[in-house]
Amino acid sequence: MSESFLHMRVAACTPEGNLRIEHRPVPAPGPGEVVLRLVWCGFCGTDLFKLDNRSQPAGTVLGHELVGVVHQIGASVATLNPGDRIVAPHHVACGLCGLCRRGSRTLCPVFKENLMSPGGFSEFILLRERVVSQAARVIPDNVPDESAAFLEPAACVLRGIDKAEIQDTEGCAVVVGGGSMGLLHLVVLRAIHPDLGIIVTDPIEERRALAGALGATMSCRPEQLGVTVEKLTAGLGADAVFDTVGGSEILMSALAALRPGGTVVLFAHAAERETAGFELNPLFKNEQRVVASYSGSLDEQDRVANLLFSGRLDPRPLITHRIPLDHVQDAVDLARQHQALKILIGPSSNGAQ
Ligand SMILES: [Zn+2]
Ligand SMILES: [Zn+2]
Repeated sequence: MSESFLHMRVAACTPEGNLRIEHRPVPAPGPGEVVLRLVWCGFCGTDLFKLDNRSQPAGTVLGHELVGVVHQIGASVATLNPGDRIVAPHHVACGLCGLCRRGSRTLCPVFKENLMSPGGFSEFILLRERVVSQAARVIPDNVPDESAAFLEPAACVLRGIDKAEIQDTEGCAVVVGGGSMGLLHLVVLRAIHPDLGIIVTDPIEERRALAGALGATMSCRPEQLGVTVEKLTAGLGADAVFDTVGGSEILMSALAALRPGGTVVLFAHAAERETAGFELNPLFKNEQRVVASYSGSLDEQDRVANLLFSGRLDPRPLITHRIPLDHVQDAVDLARQHQALKILIGPSSNGAQ
């Protein structure tokens, strides 16, 4: 290995909730492990949440929406070769425990373990054996790196969409929030339900316009949700409302927009310790459901890989910034100021600027 590969740059959390570049040794793969060279890693809302809440110790390397090229393989890795382009998640459930057997794979205690070391915002990333053997995929030649970077977040979105159990594909779904997760809901919904009426709400006009360009049937300001749903559904109400913003006020407006028998899917953090107060009897008598979804498992990743690799799903219009790893703090600042949709972090050799 050449001298320049012995050390690498990583973006480490600071005690103030920011990121800074540190130099660390390049990891060496053990048996069953591989080391990737960073191509792109998506900056996720969860990364910002962890920084804002200082929930990770200083020195932690965040980033999990990873595309990389295999740099080195450990002993007994038969499925991957140096030079392969790979997309890989950071969590893999055990598949055996009581929660896994009941379909709650994202709640498996083993699932919570981070199988990337040190993390995606790093020049080189070690993947543990469980990811290599079960979850890392070679990206087909015709699929751009930037599309593949959406595999993990789109799988999270798909799991929530499944939970809404949308029966009538000519019905109506509402996506609250036109940020990167809201618009990802829109494009995944559109890919699997071509005839579904989809309303996106957001206070920012450019985001509503982009929602329209990406296939939303209608878009509106949050306070217009009620009248917009009424118009699109002839007074019936929405089959599903996906909350990608979070908080009790949005839950109340989501319930108000729902049809009898409809489902609200919570897909965002609320403020710490926030509680919700809403009338229980309308929920009971209208047989409505409030469900939650926060991550995706291998099953959803398989299905999203089919959508992405076949070209039926192309989330690349959501990318607003490609930022070099050295300037990763710019991504934090842009996300904090709501000035970006999807940000990808990569080496400057990728044209990130
Ligand atoms: Zn993510
Ligand atoms: Zn399990």
